[in-house]
Amino acid sequence: MSMYDIIIIGGGPAGLTAAVYARRAFKSVLVLEAKSCGGQIINTPDIENYPTWEHISGFDFATRLTEQAKILGTEIKLERATDIKTDGEIKTVFTPHGSYTARAVIIATGSAPRKLGLPNENELIGRGVSYCATCDGNFFRKKKVAVVGGGNTALEDALYLSDIANTVYLIHRRDEFRGETSTVQKLKERENVSFVLNSSVTALNAEKGLKSIEVTSNSGAASTIEVSGLFVAVGRIPETRSFAAVAELDDIGYAASDENCRTKTPGIFVAGDNRQKEVRQLVTAAADGAVAAAGAIKYLSEN
Ligand code: NAP
Repeated sequence: MSMYDIIIIGGGPAGLTAAVYARRAFKSVLVLEAKSCGGQIINTPDIENYPTWEHISGFDFATRLTEQAKILGTEIKLERATDIKTDGEIKTVFTPHGSYTARAVIIATGSAPRKLGLPNENELIGRGVSYCATCDGNFFRKKKVAVVGGGNTALEDALYLSDIANTVYLIHRRDEFRGETSTVQKLKERENVSFVLNSSVTALNAEKGLKSIEVTSNSGAASTIEVSGLFVAVGRIPETRSFAAVAELDDIGYAASDENCRTKTPGIFVAGDNRQKEVRQLVTAAADGAVAAAGAIKYLSEN
């Protein structure tokens, strides 16, 4: 079995950018991707905040980045990495199909938004249902939208959207917010923000796109709210569970790393939405990929 210089786990923007940097340094690179390359950016209809692109669809962005990595000689296998074992400098990454070895590993597995679990939620992604207000908010200019959740993400999403949308309904299952009181106060001062508390979204009504949502209060009373956008902000789930032995994880599951994306294990790096940081955007995922690859290249030269 041949050994790679670097195995990258995850073929999203962070992992593929790491591959581009590693291949340009002539390192042998294997990307292991569980589903299909591109990551969650594929779900974004229009990217307007990535430098040099005024508009590009998430699908086109992901396709171009995958092609760029392939043209540079990146090997990609569609296999889910389930474990990493270290033996000195040798790292073995396991998948259901076998195992692969490398001297350095970059874990770029991203994080998945927690979903509401409603029957047609998945098919309405990009047609009214969104998990990213800063990505998709502009599509709902002067329209009615709802945000569901009670943490800082939901509160900040509601504040952000209140500058764009006509009306923002903030729907939370309790009457107390997990997020910061000062942000709740700012929201109360916004005339176009309406609080819907002690309530859950229980159905999504759609024709071509989202038309309205059914909201059920904790006492059982149901009502319909007409919205064309629903921003789901009920927490995220970092895809790090399989790697707890090699990277320190916080309570939520985000991996700890230094500013060079190094984990506690020499030669193992994290990049993208699965690491502890403040800003999780396409551009910061790509930046992490470059930083982690540079770190891995340096590690290989020193060990
Ligand atoms: P979070 O703090 O875990 O909040 C998730 C919210 O969603 C909670 O209010 C929770 O309700 C609700 N929820 C969970 N599952 C639900 C379901 N199935 N249906 C309806 N509601 C559900 O997640 P987050 O807001 O994404 O924040 C994650 C972390 O990042 C937090 O530590 C947060 O403080 C931090 N963050 C910080 C900033 C900032 O500092 N500027 C900005 C964003 C996020 P309950 O409250 O009832 O459990």
